[in-house]
Amino acid sequence: MRYYSTNHRSQIVDFREATVKGQPEDKGLYFPETIPVLPKDIIKTHSKEEIALEVITPYIDNTIEKNELRRIVEETINFNFPLIQITDDIFSLELFHGPTLAFKDVGARFMSRCLEYFVRNNNRKVIVLTATSGDTGGAVANGFYKAAGIDVVILYPSKKVSNIQELQLTTLGENIHALEINGSFDDCQRLVKQAFADDQLNGPLMLTSANSINVARWLPQQFYYFFALQQWPDKDVLPIISVPSGNFGNLCAGLLAYRSGLPAAHFIAACNSNDVVPEYFETGAYKAKKSVQTLSNAMDVGDPSNFVRMLELFNADYNVLSKLISSYSISDEETRNTIKEVENYLLDPHGAVAYASLKKHGGKGIFLETAHPAKFNDEIEPPPAVSVLLHRKKEATQMDADYNQLKDYLFSHSLK
Ligand SMILES: *Cc1c(COP(=O)(O)O)cnc(C)c1O
Repeated sequence: MRYYSTNHRSQIVDFREATVKGQPEDKGLYFPETIPVLPKDIIKTHSKEEIALEVITPYIDNTIEKNELRRIVEETINFNFPLIQITDDIFSLELFHGPTLAFKDVGARFMSRCLEYFVRNNNRKVIVLTATSGDTGGAVANGFYKAAGIDVVILYPSKKVSNIQELQLTTLGENIHALEINGSFDDCQRLVKQAFADDQLNGPLMLTSANSINVARWLPQQFYYFFALQQWPDKDVLPIISVPSGNFGNLCAGLLAYRSGLPAAHFIAACNSNDVVPEYFETGAYKAKKSVQTLSNAMDVGDPSNFVRMLELFNADYNVLSKLISSYSISDEETRNTIKEVENYLLDPHGAVAYASLKKHGGKGIFLETAHPAKFNDEIEPPPAVSVLLHRKKEATQMDADYNQLKDYLFSHSLK
């Protein structure tokens, strides 16, 4: 498989280069040249490991040796993805059984292992530099923990991530380094962008990003849509799939799976008050906005990076897109009420947005429960994998939102 940039159909690369580079120089996103069509009976006859391997193999080609790819896939999905019935018509696909209790574990675990494979014979360390508003940091830290030849530097905004989220990225040690920035998430992201654009850094150091637009994080997210269909009990009705969306990587992975043959009836782009995509479906025009803060903070995105992939998947044909996808914007008040109203199941704020959207739309379907509710509510007891964190000591380097400080840190750090 080869990948082109969505900006210019040039800059063709293979999976290895797309993973290591992250983003094409023209600032588009890498997109597969062809979309594989999978055998019809794949979800009936295959185990979850076999499905995952079948789904991902065409995208990898021969950039990863076969047995190694099998190992990487098996390690990526070595936890459960249960489909739980909530009402007659609504099912929850629980994506929070991974080590950091969020669906981002799948992408982070897959990408870290691919990158580790690709830099194996490098004589220099690669530095993965990432800004996080909360969930990405934990998943990346955990996914890359002890990866050979890779150092990870994570910037997070001081006092603006939850307690558990902070512990997840500041207590591992080894090759994981946390920078606590006196500033906002936007400051963190600006500093990271500045570092990638700085030739003085990029010559001597090998910097890369673990951003959610990386194909190695995006593509494996197709897996759990197939796992959902494998567990879908209704032989006569295909499910509507409601996806809580921020940067739209997750939904675009579902749509990619659909184009490869995933049997689904319809998709819902479930959003909080950050409603550029619901507005696109209403008006046909896309207008980026400044993000607003909500209860489902991992979805507070005003200009979702993966929207271009959504267009690319359907040749930007508004009629095709709006037939297959509906989109809803759910307020914080509706989110709170939904969590209260659903008494037999504990929703987290992100899952609640998807649940409420599915309910609004009507019909029979699945919503993606993308994080464990304990991550966002201190009154809920977290599972053991996370509660052990509460006894660990936070280790972070404090820093102002000042690029020169970051640069000094990266230089002195890389000498060790
Ligand atoms: C990142 C995240 C989302 C949004 O996913 P996108 O792929 O950015 O649309 C939803 N829920 C949770 C819990 C997340 O961490």
